[in-house]
Amino acid sequence: MIEHEEIKGLLKKYERDKISIATICSHSALQIFHGARREGFRTIGITTEDRKIAYDAFPLARPDEYIVVRSFSDIMKEEVQGELRRRNAIVVPHGSFVEYVGLKDLEDSFLVPMFGNRRALEWEGDRRRQREWLERAGLRLPRELPGPDKITGKAFVKFGGAKGGKNFFTASSEREFYNKLEELKRRGRISGEDERTLVIQEFVCGVRYYIHYFYSPINGRLELFGMDKRIEVIDEAYRGLPDVPEEFFDYTVTGNQPVILRESLLPSVIKMGYDVVKASQELFYPGLIGPFCLETMFHPDKGFIVFEISARIVAGTNLYPSGSPYTCYIFDEPMSTGRRIAREIKVAIERDLLEKVVY
Ligand code: AMP
Repeated sequence: MIEHEEIKGLLKKYERDKISIATICSHSALQIFHGARREGFRTIGITTEDRKIAYDAFPLARPDEYIVVRSFSDIMKEEVQGELRRRNAIVVPHGSFVEYVGLKDLEDSFLVPMFGNRRALEWEGDRRRQREWLERAGLRLPRELPGPDKITGKAFVKFGGAKGGKNFFTASSEREFYNKLEELKRRGRISGEDERTLVIQEFVCGVRYYIHYFYSPINGRLELFGMDKRIEVIDEAYRGLPDVPEEFFDYTVTGNQPVILRESLLPSVIKMGYDVVKASQELFYPGLIGPFCLETMFHPDKGFIVFEISARIVAGTNLYPSGSPYTCYIFDEPMSTGRRIAREIKVAIERDLLEKVVY
């Protein structure tokens, strides 16, 4: 694990008036670049050649400069890391960033200042620790089954990493579990590593809300940034009625829809956010920094059941590049999560507190 002292050492050499914001061209990069530009930063997109076309198509969000790599894992190469440091870059990690680079490399060998606490990504990436964190925050979680032999009702089977629901399935018996798992293996859709990260949970019923927050360690404030609902293939299952084809039982995320919550449910949402931040500070000081998301189901009798946390910007925030129906009550200007990250970095530079938000 790269220590904060090392990053502080790098920051000392940075020219504070020439800091740029960098990320991999994927996931929420348009929003991150757009927000950074609005706050006056230069932006750097790390990309493969074939992706540039998508970013060049959006003049207000394209990065000022590209670092072109053959594959995203090349970001670990010393020449790329050196280039980022030379350009005084602060990297903003997003879901694809973590997925492409790999958590271990990111933690142990990515020697470039990153926005947020690296340890939060570590706690997010390890399902056992993630559970410990959310339990400590006092949140209600889906029950976890120790093995397929314990499946009695409907169970939900998922794999680790930020894979967007790919290959997740349901099973109502041990036999159905093994049948479906073997089928996935036979079709080469999951690896041995995927299998090692498999978890079996109770199938939770309710309405899904993916709640976006931002926590600022500089002003100690939790901000509710917005909410979305992911669009997964299964959401279209009704189209196959009355004989729903098996293909519809697919949880792969393909997009996001905006949602808004009944106002009377907001106190629970704000409290959950604060409790998660507090638990993170107790478990891995200084805890969460910047954007995070609680992925929840709301059940009218049981309340919010949290099935996942993302300790970084989530793609659902892409819905609100000019602010959401919640940010307009916090900021008197259009404020996306991408812009909020850049604002936090800007304020930290002005107050000489960069070490508080960059790890
Ligand atoms: P995740 O990758 O954990 O965010 O899950 C992807 C999708 O799987 C979610 O958006 C839900 O639709 C579904 N899901 C995850 N966990 C459960 C669960 N315990 N019960 C029912 N559906 C779930």
